[in-house]
Amino acid sequence: MAGPCAVESFDQLAAAADAAAAAGARILRGGAFKPRTSPYSFRGLGEPALRWLHDIAAARDLAVVTEVMTPELVPLVAEYADMLQIGSRSIQNFPLLDAVGRAGRPVLLKRGMMSTLDELLASAEYILSAGNPDVILCERGIRTFEPQTRNTFDVVSVPLLKRLSHLPVVADPSHATGQADLVLPAARAAVAAGADGLLIEVHPDPANALSDGPQALLPSDLAELATSCGAVARAIGRAF
Ligand code: PEP
Ligand code: MN
Repeated sequence: MAGPCAVESFDQLAAAADAAAAAGARILRGGAFKPRTSPYSFRGLGEPALRWLHDIAAARDLAVVTEVMTPELVPLVAEYADMLQIGSRSIQNFPLLDAVGRAGRPVLLKRGMMSTLDELLASAEYILSAGNPDVILCERGIRTFEPQTRNTFDVVSVPLLKRLSHLPVVADPSHATGQADLVLPAARAAVAAGADGLLIEVHPDPANALSDGPQALLPSDLAELATSCGAVARAIGRAF
């Protein structure tokens, strides 16, 4: 899965989608509704961004994953997206978990920045018990005392979650590190640890991104990541 943090324009998303497709991604990501710490930060373009995600992905034979922040928005987002993302900040929004449990779409459930693995699994259980068996767990880093990185990448959560549940586990080295040059080594580590997939932020012009620019890869970096992680996957006997 690859794409920009936020959908900013048709052209920005199309360029990121070209990079994703060229690197072998199967799913285009991009936020239309963005959870932001400050209300004055860019909060997403809403429905027009959903429409661009759908059309740009379809033209490149990609599926779409995008975040949904409220139960009320689930039907709208499910109309355009193949998979619904529950963000780190929403992991214990129980009415939202119930709603995506009934939405008829797979769910990408991101670990809360302060969630234990048991709490992540309990949140997954909300979705499963509402009748939706298609949940992917995502390790995206947790808050620790270490300020050098945006989050601390808990790489051992990948094999642990696979031991504790039957669900697929993917990793998001972009949010786990917050720095573009750390994304590649963290991605390699995730694949080596057994991750079933990766979620990577890519932007055609990271310096001018409206959100998460410091962690966005350039298209050429994404291609290098795909090649390198493919080699790691093959080294441990997995396809990529
Ligand atoms: C995102 O995927 O852009 C995002 C907001 O991630 P998280 O919820 O993990 O912070
Ligand atoms: Mn982001």
